Amino acid sequence: MAQVTGSTDPAPPWALLAELTHACPLHCPYCSNPLELARRASELSGGEWADVLRQAAELGVVHTHLSGGEPLLRPDLEQIVAAAEAAGIYTQLVTSGTGLDEARLAALTTAGLRSVQLSVQHADPRANDRIAGRRSSFAAKERAAALVRRAGLPLGLNVVLHRDNLDAVDALIDLGVDWGVDRIELANTQFYGWGLLNRTALLPTRDQLARARETVERRREQLAGRIDLVWVVPDYFDGVAKPCMGGWGAVSLTVAPDGTVLPCPAAASLPDLQPPNVRDHPLAWIWERSPAFNRFRGTEWMTGPCHGCPRQEEDFGGCRCQAFALTGDAARTDPACALSPDHHLVRELADGGRPEAPPYVYRRPGAVPAGGGFPGPNSGENLPTCSQ
Ligand code: SF4
Ligand code: SF4
Repeated sequence: MAQVTGSTDPAPPWALLAELTHACPLHCPYCSNPLELARRASELSGGEWADVLRQAAELGVVHTHLSGGEPLLRPDLEQIVAAAEAAGIYTQLVTSGTGLDEARLAALTTAGLRSVQLSVQHADPRANDRIAGRRSSFAAKERAAALVRRAGLPLGLNVVLHRDNLDAVDALIDLGVDWGVDRIELANTQFYGWGLLNRTALLPTRDQLARARETVERRREQLAGRIDLVWVVPDYFDGVAKPCMGGWGAVSLTVAPDGTVLPCPAAASLPDLQPPNVRDHPLAWIWERSPAFNRFRGTEWMTGPCHGCPRQEEDFGGCRCQAFALTGDAARTDPACALSPDHHLVRELADGGRPEAPPYVYRRPGAVPAGGGFPGPNSGENLPTCSQ
């Protein structure tokens, strides 16, 4: 896709990730929400979301992921779905499954919901609940999957892969088959935010990844035409930077619960980005003119090995958030790329030893935890819902 900087308008976005709330009953140690979760009192109202969706449609957006946190915690989710439908935007609910019942799903479907993505942490219920930090969360997912199938909506299974579940990829695919899903996305953990905080516990070995990749290839052949199997690459291991978000400000935008608009969900971690907010600016200005969206758009900002590299229109220099997290400079080549002068940072991690995994640092309400996780399996029963 052609992208430009300066006075010419960029190509319009087609997708919007709507983070309706950061509150969530689960506490996944790789959560893509920022370390500082938005408080519920700061969230956009249903009316403000309706306006954002109307503006997004005018800008060119045709697809929205209604995500979180857990979007089902929004009592006005049906109104938000209806607003997207009225604006002509396809809606996909991204949920942990906790809190979905028949009546809620019927109301959402009536409002215009088109499909559901359900996250699962492991094929084994006890392991699932330990990773999610909440007892009985697997059972809730199983019920949610059955409800969505009965309602006749397309259903996808989302799995974030790491040291604790890569050896269960075959069983996870079996689970998707049993639950009647149409698509399984197996996404290796991205190490920024909560994932970076938990990297020692989550980083897999090369052997684990090789076995899982072989399994996916075998099962993909077996399930061809029935289930779409998607494998999202582990970029620490291949020496290849991933084309993060299809390029900065190129195809999609994220609106955080408090109205902050970001080129990707993790971009709030960049200290001097000064992301704009829909409460202060029209979405079209944010996409086309704001300094934050033009900062790494296109290729003109590139320096070092990315400058003039023949792959710059394919991977866009990799992930800006990862470059910042590992080097302190968001404009450097992503260290995942073998051509980066910082590549040793990921190489050493990928090929180094694996100490005994420390306990997870789970999400806590409101603030970055000082350290330490829960003492053992299934100890998350009494945790408060994050960010409430
Ligand atoms: S805690 Fe888990 S289920 Fe909740 S938003 Fe984060 S990744 Fe999703
Ligand atoms: S040097 Fe930059 S553009 Fe070239 S392959 Fe690496 S990350 Fe991509």
